[in-house]
Amino acid sequence: MLQSKLLLPTLREAPAEAEIISHKLLIRAGLIRQLASGVYTYLPLGYRTLRKVEAIVREEMDKSGAQELNMSVLQPIELWRESGRDSAYGPELVRLKDRHEREFVLGPTNEEVITTVVKNEIKSYRKLPINLYQIQTKFRDERRPRFGLMRGREFLMKDAYSFDLDWNGLDVTYRGMYDAYTNIFTRCGVRFRAVEADAGAIGGEGGTHEFMVLAEIGEDTIISCNQCSYAANLEKAVSGVGKALQSQQIGIGNQVSPAYESFATPNLKTIEQLAGQLGVDASSFVKTLIYQAGNELIAVVVRGDRDVNEVKVKNYLGLVEDIELASESKVQAVTNAAVGFAGPVELAIPILVDQEVAAMGSVVCGANQTDQHLRHVLPGRDFPLDRIGDFCNVRVGDPCPNCDGTLEAFKGIEVGHIFKLGTKYSEKLGAAYIDQDGQEKPMIMGCYGIGISRVVQAVVEQNYDDNGIIWPLSIAPYHVHVIPVSMKDETQRSVANELYQTFQDIGADVLLDDRDERPGVKFKDSDLIGIPIRITVGKQAGEGIVEVKLRSEEDKQLMNLEEVVSFVK
Ligand code: ATP
Ligand code: MG
Ligand code: MG
Ligand code: MG
Repeated sequence: MLQSKLLLPTLREAPAEAEIISHKLLIRAGLIRQLASGVYTYLPLGYRTLRKVEAIVREEMDKSGAQELNMSVLQPIELWRESGRDSAYGPELVRLKDRHEREFVLGPTNEEVITTVVKNEIKSYRKLPINLYQIQTKFRDERRPRFGLMRGREFLMKDAYSFDLDWNGLDVTYRGMYDAYTNIFTRCGVRFRAVEADAGAIGGEGGTHEFMVLAEIGEDTIISCNQCSYAANLEKAVSGVGKALQSQQIGIGNQVSPAYESFATPNLKTIEQLAGQLGVDASSFVKTLIYQAGNELIAVVVRGDRDVNEVKVKNYLGLVEDIELASESKVQAVTNAAVGFAGPVELAIPILVDQEVAAMGSVVCGANQTDQHLRHVLPGRDFPLDRIGDFCNVRVGDPCPNCDGTLEAFKGIEVGHIFKLGTKYSEKLGAAYIDQDGQEKPMIMGCYGIGISRVVQAVVEQNYDDNGIIWPLSIAPYHVHVIPVSMKDETQRSVANELYQTFQDIGADVLLDDRDERPGVKFKDSDLIGIPIRITVGKQAGEGIVEVKLRSEEDKQLMNLEEVVSFVK
């Protein structure tokens, strides 16, 4: 490609709304432009890299035996009613109506549609297992779209869905996906970890892993052992201490239902009673409960005198001195709506944990997410990692649940997520097969996502310096950047053109800076856009000598034209 013709608008400064390095660089290097909050245009350079990530994902998925198809973004709401997710998914679900008032959603994920396809097309055990995937735009009306492509409202995802005969089959498929993801992220050039995770809104009965790109600005917290391979999302992590608590299997958890079940029964229990039942003190029980609730509204119900209980809850929270409780009537209304209580409750204190700050240990108390009175009772974003234990069931330095090691914490960006779903969707939507003995059985499902657009930015978040992006070769928009120092010099021009032609012939992606710009401008842009190999055609061009520099290294090397071609090869 000739740079003079390329739509590559580089900028000296990034717009103020870009808070993090990778977002700034994607804008400054002319890869993306914002159209609306959380909605972006990929300019040619950005789109090339997006497609390269897509190609790696496609290759590894195909290699794993998965089959690519393509499903509609527009989905009838009836499917979401059948699965029960029309309400469970909440306000992130983008809804719309057609001219006949029929309701649709723009798919944030596709379990309902794919399960319907498979239910209609596959009846016999002979056709299973099968793993189907697509690379398709997704819509999620995120509460706080931010950080550019990291948290968009429209973004590109690879989503795969597997259907097996039984759980053993699913284990094999899941392992295959785990390996494919490991290959994908390795090839994309990021440092990552696979961690045990929580099932969240997708649900399911089996295990789940998240693939995390390690980065300070990550919104997730990873707890890992300094000795063994134990690694988990903080939402899921247990320490040697917390494990004892979890093994008691009381209904606390990230899911709405189990959290409420223990309270929504006619026999409401006090915090002390519940804690006593678990053999833990009330304070750590409340902290665990708050943490485990994630961003869901939970009601901590305390019977008896309001003032006394308010003091008690403050004590349970320990560190939190100025916790503010919402007014009783409001609390009551919200609690009733959220929990569906039958019968009167003397005092309900909904405690809300903000999703984005939860991982940092900040707790927000109030009646609902938009309540003016919501208050962060701790400084969220600056809350030090070694204090997270104050608000959840794991503390940095705790013993590992699996070995003699000690737990550490890191920040991560979730770029991929694999789930064992089991029969959650196949039972609700009726995806069953006839087995060898003529018996009807539900298919055992798994689902597997990768945020392709998020990966593009996560790679940048790990690969840059003061001058700009440093693309790994595998997903760089171009492999080679050929820069004649002066376009006025005929020799330089012709050597540069010759190299440009040769590189194209050997199948390299090459960008030729044929602009009539000062060398300083050309080099600055070249560093900013971060093409891995830079070839400068300067004064020695007449002797057939050019300068080669890798974007990732300081050193420059002189090579003759033959050497440079075999180097690029
Ligand atoms: P997050 O915790 O960041 O909100 P999620 O757990 O809701 O992500 P999944 O439902 O697991 O996301 O979707 C699969 C993948 O899609 C995620 O691992 C992530 O890489 C990507 N993804 C999810 N939401 C977004 C978004 N708003 N913008 C870009 N990529 C996203
Ligand atoms: Mg999400
Ligand atoms: Mg997540
Ligand atoms: Mg996820």
